Amino acid sequence: MKDVGFGMTVQDANAKDLVELYRLSNEMNMEFATASLHNSFYFVEAKNIIKDRPMVAKEFESLINELLKSNSPKKWFRAYFNHGLINYIYGQKRLLPCDMAFDTFFIDPYGDVMPCNGTKEKEVMGNLNETNWDTLWSSEQADKVRQKVRHCDRQCWMIGSVSPAMHKYIWVPATWVIKHKFLRYFKDNKYSMYENKICRDYRDGKVTKEELDKLSTCDINGEISDGLSEKSRQQLINKTGEEIVDADIKAQNIRKA
Ligand code: SF4
Repeated sequence: MKDVGFGMTVQDANAKDLVELYRLSNEMNMEFATASLHNSFYFVEAKNIIKDRPMVAKEFESLINELLKSNSPKKWFRAYFNHGLINYIYGQKRLLPCDMAFDTFFIDPYGDVMPCNGTKEKEVMGNLNETNWDTLWSSEQADKVRQKVRHCDRQCWMIGSVSPAMHKYIWVPATWVIKHKFLRYFKDNKYSMYENKICRDYRDGKVTKEELDKLSTCDINGEISDGLSEKSRQQLINKTGEEIVDADIKAQNIRKA
């Protein structure tokens, strides 16, 4: 089957399945994508957190070594992405800058344009049902959201924002790949999670679990917002989101015909 693959949101409860699932997807000739827990309006969640970071990071380390062993350049770059996930679950600064809202954006089914799906509250640059694209993209509101992105401290590491950054700052992952794939060509295990200073600091007791928890976006008392604007909520009074999307697709097909 084309363009079908496995996706796994790695957390304490399923981390031990990570490498097995990767091997299975390989046997089935399928893509294997990973993520870890995030909190945001989009996920309607504020309390997600990894509890046993070293255990989860160790599983990512094994996956990274499997990916680096392969002959596929795509997998070597996926190894870098997973290295970034270890960095993320320890609450560290993103390995690459985030330029969402500058050269990438999200649109929801109601026409709201946003920088990404990782913010705590929904950040709307404008709505395509009210404004045309060029006006929206160069509006004052869009610039306000861009300023927030420049000061965003959520440090998320999801493929939606990382993939454009990996292309834009290609020399960073490329240098990492050269170092781990080629300079360690004859080594069985080319990568260690303890290359990350924060992993060593935690192992050596220089930083506590509580300190790491504070660096995460988990907010136990946080109010969870589903991010819907008042206008979007109004549209849902008599219809479901699926009905709105189905009607829109039908209207587009009629226009095309
Ligand atoms: S780091 Fe970037 S992708 Fe993540 S929430 Fe902030 S702006 Fe969005």
